[in-house]
Amino acid sequence: RSFDLMDLSDSLLKGIYRCGYREPSVIQQKAIAPIIKGKDVIAQAQTGTGKTAAFGISALQRINTNSPKLQALILSPTRELATQTTDALAMLGQFMGVRIATCIGGSKVSEDERALHANPHIVSGTPGRVLDLVGRGTINLSDIEMLIIDEADELFDRDFLKDVTAVLAQRGVRTQTVLFCATFPPEIKKLTELIEHPVRITNE
Ligand code: AMP
Repeated sequence: RSFDLMDLSDSLLKGIYRCGYREPSVIQQKAIAPIIKGKDVIAQAQTGTGKTAAFGISALQRINTNSPKLQALILSPTRELATQTTDALAMLGQFMGVRIATCIGGSKVSEDERALHANPHIVSGTPGRVLDLVGRGTINLSDIEMLIIDEADELFDRDFLKDVTAVLAQRGVRTQTVLFCATFPPEIKKLTELIEHPVRITNE
């Protein structure tokens, strides 16, 4: 029941402790190990459970910061959440030299294109803008090693289901896929069927 026993890099551990986290939350204890192993994961967890750090720590551990490649894509239902996720990961990864770009609607696409030229390791964004960048060839989904979908039920509520389904359909065959959701209405069940043989985790 300690971050020390999770086989995390020293620089990442230092960031976790600098954030003031002493012990992993339940969802972190359950989700981090399988995600780091590269497994597809579907996790049921509400806001406040430490879900952002659960997938954030896992993604940071899997990122190779010596590579210039974009390796992980995180999709969130709102611009605010995408921005908060970038901030949380930047804090956790502050000693790692990780580069994270936020790609959200409401800003200029040219700004995103400039940010992507700086070779971020991780992009945190909203589905509409990310698909726009995919359409322009700025983001190549088949190259991305890790796709994280946060608050999938909220994505559905905001009419993003089509966009997220398109991202899932265009991901590479070896792209690790992680989905976090508070509830599982039928529409989300349909989405999760696009993830084969996932490890399923709850916050209980
Ligand atoms: P979330 O569920 O991602 O919205 O996180 C809820 C809050 O818990 C955030 O303010 C996090 O900074 C905080 N948090 C996440 N993991 C831990 C932890 N292991 N120990 C203490 N606080 C944490």
